[in-house]
Amino acid sequence: MSHPKEERTVVIVKPDGVKRGLVGEIISRFERRGLKVIALEMFQATKKQIDDHYPKNEAWIMRLGEKTLANYKKYGWDTKKELGTDDKLKIGKMVRGWLIDYMVAAPLVKMIVEGIHAVDMIRKISGSTMPSVAEMGTIRGDFSVDDATAANRDKRAIHNIVHASETPQEAEHEIAFWFTKGEIHSYKRAEEDMMF
Ligand code: GDP
Ligand code: MG
Repeated sequence: MSHPKEERTVVIVKPDGVKRGLVGEIISRFERRGLKVIALEMFQATKKQIDDHYPKNEAWIMRLGEKTLANYKKYGWDTKKELGTDDKLKIGKMVRGWLIDYMVAAPLVKMIVEGIHAVDMIRKISGSTMPSVAEMGTIRGDFSVDDATAANRDKRAIHNIVHASETPQEAEHEIAFWFTKGEIHSYKRAEEDMMF
């Protein structure tokens, strides 16, 4: 069994993050916290890769739809009028399709980040999916201003700078999917003896 400080997660800088020149800023936020980047690459994804990266099960797709429904309810928008349906599975499928289109629109930067509770820590540093509720001081809270209501009207995914694995299981799937063993590196950071 690996040590708790070896937990790993995947971060992908999305097209808006790359095109806005935020790659360095994003990596720097992880590094200064004490988390370790152990794999890193810029690449152009294919639609098939993105389709296989995001979960395909109904529960995940419905959850995507639910996010839109909750957001519309909160701001008083009519889901049926805006999207032609209030079925969360149909909406989830729509959003998933826009997400695939978006993720191939420019190069991405993929990385593996390692550290204690890396999954939760990186999610916290990244901030909430919806930039409107992402805390200040998070990547999404500091650099994005998009929202589901606007993104859905324009039939596109929310531009929220980064992707980050949500659970250790999701991270495991994403590491195996995006990286070969030879691309993952092992080294000791200078402060490790002092940090833990
Ligand atoms: P994440 O893990 O925080 O990235 O969020 P999810 O896994 O739920 O969704 C994946 C991505 O789909 C998000 O980061 C957004 O780019 C996009 N997305 C999620 N919900 C919505 C939505 O309601 N509308 C639109 N247009 N895009 C969404
Ligand atoms: Mg997610």
